[in-house]
Amino acid sequence: MNTVFETVIGIEVHAQLRTNTKLFCGCPNQFGTGPNSNVCPVCLGLPGALPVLNKQAVIFAVTAGLGLHCQIRETSVFSRKNYFYPDLPKGYQISQYDLPICEHGHLDITVEGVSKRIGITRIHMEEDAGKLVHQGAEAISGSTGSLVDLNRACTPLIEIVSEPDIRSAQEARVYVENLRRILMFLGVCDGNMEEGSLRADANVSIRPVGTEKFGTRTEIKNVNSFRSLERAIESEVARQTALILSGSTVIQETRHYDDFTQTTKSLRSKADAHDYRYFPEPDLFPLHVSSAWIAEIKASMKLHPDAVLLKYKTEGLSEFEIQVLLDDPEMACFFDACCVDGVSPTAVAKWVVGDFQAILRDKKISFSDSPVAPAALTSLVQMIEKGTLSGKMAKEMLPAMMTGKDPESIVKESGATQISDGDALRPLIAAIIDQHPDVIEKVKSGKRNAADFLIGQVMKETKGRAKPDLVRTLILEDIQNR
Ligand SMILES: [Zn+2]
Repeated sequence: MNTVFETVIGIEVHAQLRTNTKLFCGCPNQFGTGPNSNVCPVCLGLPGALPVLNKQAVIFAVTAGLGLHCQIRETSVFSRKNYFYPDLPKGYQISQYDLPICEHGHLDITVEGVSKRIGITRIHMEEDAGKLVHQGAEAISGSTGSLVDLNRACTPLIEIVSEPDIRSAQEARVYVENLRRILMFLGVCDGNMEEGSLRADANVSIRPVGTEKFGTRTEIKNVNSFRSLERAIESEVARQTALILSGSTVIQETRHYDDFTQTTKSLRSKADAHDYRYFPEPDLFPLHVSSAWIAEIKASMKLHPDAVLLKYKTEGLSEFEIQVLLDDPEMACFFDACCVDGVSPTAVAKWVVGDFQAILRDKKISFSDSPVAPAALTSLVQMIEKGTLSGKMAKEMLPAMMTGKDPESIVKESGATQISDGDALRPLIAAIIDQHPDVIEKVKSGKRNAADFLIGQVMKETKGRAKPDLVRTLILEDIQNR
């Protein structure tokens, strides 16, 4: 009999918080500076240095917890997680253990039209470790030596641990995508996976369908994109299935995903919690978060993507436009700023998601650095809606607007407005029709498409400024009356 297996996945996401300074010292929380330039006695772990908790990091952790429907613990405790590794100067990491700041939350995902709730066991705060820079090779194997950069040591993280509710690689991917979106929208994390601001580890096991008991799990690390997360899980499920079917057993271990070979390989046997000898951090008081403070944080929270989604649906945006906006909180923020009273959100969305996004992307400029102010794009859209400009003319004005000019002054300087005044166009149209008696005959005999030629002539004469649908109406009207 063939055994059919079910995949069981739990995900741990480490998200770097967007604070200005590190978790327990005043060093800048910055990526890409020279090695060991953002360090001090605290994050170097020098004897006698004492940690001081960053208040903003607590606010961000609570914000994330509220965004993920967690209960916020009024008292949480920092603990020491003891282990040795060259990138950990103190010999322990300050983390939270049995009393984390947030617990019992959830996040809803939709995969192929089916919605599902994934439980969030906990969110705890912790400091990051430094980084080993391997010489002469990408990984430690094959390198000639490794250098230690402690810029990242003590940067603030939250670790978000899911329940083992995820049943496929695809669900895992959607879960992390949604989670990233929420953290970015709440302004808690920049979501940059390449720079390691968001890292996902997957705990994967399989069990025969219909059984309750969990199989032995492995933890997959080193996943730095959504695609590699999906592939890593798929390859690990295939490996575990082959092992069990051949009569072997899965060993509890940490495995490293290699994007090149698309397989996982054993890194080390997985330690259990008791191996870390957790104990409460004696240099920090327990953290108290009062209900008044939680209420204050809740009141100042930015919009949750679920609320944004609903707003965009009500405004009549297309599924595609909504997806694009939700994947880029900066773009969504720009779009919202454009949608003032008296302008249609769908018309704005067409420009923000379409041509305007294209020109920014082309110049590698983010929406937050856009040289075109939202108000300028709004007036461009309004000029199209009023018929002052054609869509084509507006598109041609975008490069000039990128220098910071507003569309009104560009129009004033160039005089390039759309001619939508019938009386101004009639004499020109009559003159052009006079020159083409053959077209008159064709149109009168029912071939209305023959008028396209005349529209082309009018557009040419007006240098593209005439409003095309108006020109068509006027031409047909004129011919009818002959
Ligand atoms: Zn420091």
